[in-house]
Amino acid sequence: SKRQGSGGFQMYTEDMDAAAKERLELENDLRLALERDEFILFYQPQWDTQRGTLIGAEALLRWKHPKRGMVPPVQFIPVAEASGLINPIGEWVLKEACRQNKQWQESGLPPIRISVNLSIRQFEQPDLVDRVAQVLQSVQLEPAFIELEITESMAMDAERAIITLSSLKRLGVHISMDDFGTGYSSLSVLRRFPIDKLKIDRSFVRDFGDNQSNALIASTIIGMAHSLNLSVIAEGVETLEQVEFLRTLACYQVQGYYYSPPLPAEDFRTKFLKAI
Ligand code: C2E
Ligand code: CA
Ligand code: CA
Ligand code: CA
Repeated sequence: SKRQGSGGFQMYTEDMDAAAKERLELENDLRLALERDEFILFYQPQWDTQRGTLIGAEALLRWKHPKRGMVPPVQFIPVAEASGLINPIGEWVLKEACRQNKQWQESGLPPIRISVNLSIRQFEQPDLVDRVAQVLQSVQLEPAFIELEITESMAMDAERAIITLSSLKRLGVHISMDDFGTGYSSLSVLRRFPIDKLKIDRSFVRDFGDNQSNALIASTIIGMAHSLNLSVIAEGVETLEQVEFLRTLACYQVQGYYYSPPLPAEDFRTKFLKAI
């Protein structure tokens, strides 16, 4: 009825007001988070199931909000992207991952590669390559110990992306394509991209057992990676069955809760770096 309709509408605007207020508050707090030192990186191991060794780690951002506690990235990354705050935040992430990696190396631990997520806003900065070079230089970390994770959305302007990626490669950092299979990049575009690795999105790793099409997509991506001479890692691996199924497809690199959730730096070090 009409009444219900208008009631629904009011609730909708109230919800919108609440959502808008919440967003504004988050944005304001996010603005202060860098100077207040509220960000932390967690590290999730990437595992080689053939050799049974650590390959590296993905650095994942956490925000320790003074009142809200730990805010997950799904809640604040979109706000950071919309407001442009992702650029300084993303640069902090890169620098912190480099600093931590260098510190581990200097304390005599076996060197690993740490991957860092790059937002599309960062990727589109005209001086991105200089900024990355500057961070590596300031921390004195060899570029090969850093991997930048890009997404298919960055392939929209393929010609420009290829130029940026080539410069990053020349610098010596590794590049991986994150969440692969969820976007629209064609094989012909992918072939021309100077990347090192495909990361199979976790949505395709889920329900291997009872979802034939997920298994098929995963197998297609792995085959594609092999034929393009790229390495391939599966993310969101939660069970031994998934590990074993991936092995039958010759995918030996995995990341997921089956091995470990993302951990604070100190826990990651004692659990995974001492054990190599
Ligand atoms: P992502 O890059 O795809 O990162 C993987 C996400 O999957 C992480 O969530 C990780 O904790 C989660 N994950 C890992 N293993 C498993 C598993 O076995 N099962 C399930 N269900 N999930 C698993 P997280 O840390 O909450 O990050 C979410 C997203 O936020 C990331 O997705 C990435 O898009 C974004 N993000 C995180 N840190 C950064 C950052 O420093 N910069 C940027 N631009 N984005 C970031
Ligand atoms: Ca990622
Ligand atoms: Ca991913
Ligand atoms: Ca994702």
